[in-house]
Amino acid sequence: MLREDKIRCDDIKSHKIQTYTLQNFRKIPQIESMSTEKQHEIEIVGNVFPFKTNNYVIEQLIDWNNTQNDPMFILNFPQKNMLSEAHYKKMKFVLENYSDQKEIINVANQIRMQLNPHPAGQLEFNIPKLFDGTKLLGMQHKYKETCLFFPSQSQTCHAYCTFCFRWPQFVGIDELKFAMNESNQLIQYLQEHDEITDILFTGGDPMIMKAKIFSAYIDAILEADLPNLKSIRIGSKAISYWPYKFITDNDSEDMLEIFKKVTDNNLHLAFMAHFNHLTELSTPSAKLAIKKISDTGAIIRTQSPILSKINNNSEMWSKMWNLQVQLGCIPYYMFVVRDTGAQKYFGITLVEAYKIFVDAYRQVSGLARTVRGPSMSATPGKILIDGIITLNSQKFLTLRFLQCRNPDLVQKPFYAKYNENAMWIDELQPAFSNKFCFELDHVKTKFN
Ligand SMILES: *Cc1c(COP(=O)(O)O)cnc(C)c1O
Ligand code: SF4
Repeated sequence: MLREDKIRCDDIKSHKIQTYTLQNFRKIPQIESMSTEKQHEIEIVGNVFPFKTNNYVIEQLIDWNNTQNDPMFILNFPQKNMLSEAHYKKMKFVLENYSDQKEIINVANQIRMQLNPHPAGQLEFNIPKLFDGTKLLGMQHKYKETCLFFPSQSQTCHAYCTFCFRWPQFVGIDELKFAMNESNQLIQYLQEHDEITDILFTGGDPMIMKAKIFSAYIDAILEADLPNLKSIRIGSKAISYWPYKFITDNDSEDMLEIFKKVTDNNLHLAFMAHFNHLTELSTPSAKLAIKKISDTGAIIRTQSPILSKINNNSEMWSKMWNLQVQLGCIPYYMFVVRDTGAQKYFGITLVEAYKIFVDAYRQVSGLARTVRGPSMSATPGKILIDGIITLNSQKFLTLRFLQCRNPDLVQKPFYAKYNENAMWIDELQPAFSNKFCFELDHVKTKFN
């Protein structure tokens, strides 16, 4: 049973954010009444993965009568099975036998390094350089048209998703932290690369920034008057985790003014909203936030990974897409959960993801069929699982690049041997040769 029918009445008044992390989560009233064993589980796993939640999530989204299965609880609170048994035992042992914080962090880091903290070659590739050779660590430029920008003030979120592939940035493994203070370098890079049409503010969540700080970046970009720039995108989960950012926070009006300034300057403001579950769209505050953002001329597009225990059924997706369209949002991406962190816990097979996608897609009108997926953000690019075909009574998977490091490969279908258990591209075999198209040396050349 989906929960969207439940009437929720969070009244629209000023709300003070109360943040909970590993240090104070036992003060959450609903947690206090849980068994000490359960609390200890949260603590053990929360020492490895980042953990943060807030009063909106706790009061409006989580079903405290069903924490065993509640998607919103699982989305925010560390779960025992997110760690392998061996890692869990190791962390438990250290917490119970050492009081030295250094030792605890050491062990946590050892475990973290075994959880593929840099999927899709994030550290080796994509880091752009200015013509003078300066490395821009707070940016990533993977696909020709779009560059990602990580403002140093948005290296956190209003709450953390337990599946998040950006988790290493939040746990303070220092060299993993991308961030940049300066908009000067960003602008210089955009001037040097006129193929870039889109800049995507990301993090963390850029909407954690106060309007004043965010406006410094936006004003600099607008003032630079870059002829190649067409769109500013903001990747954010704030509508889900803190919709008050756009309705009652003391800088909410200022933030909306910035959006309006962008659209008034004839740039497209694309608000890339993350919604993992229908519940996140069910509160009056979230709906009002969507309306307020849309009223600025910004367009909200939606995306989410498909996750076991959270949203791995087609009814959930068709209902989400329908509701998003109804609220004026454009469904954009369904992702396959990345091969990092707690992938084993949330992952589903590519074939299962494909079947859920197709089943959901068939249930919605054309207006919601703007969505694409399921897509893997892998090292060479965004790979869509496009179909299952049978040729000469043998089954294959059809794949296609939605985005690729090498633009020549975009939209070209390619094939893999059918594999019902594969959860990521590296578990697939090419269908008709010994290498995938993106593995051939002459196409591996990067564009930047
Ligand atoms: C998804 C993504 C983009 C944006 O791709 P679009 O298909 O244009 O939405 C840009 N950079 C990176 C690294 C991405 O993963
Ligand atoms: S809001 Fe986005 S960046 Fe933040 S924890 Fe969730 S998925 Fe990660």
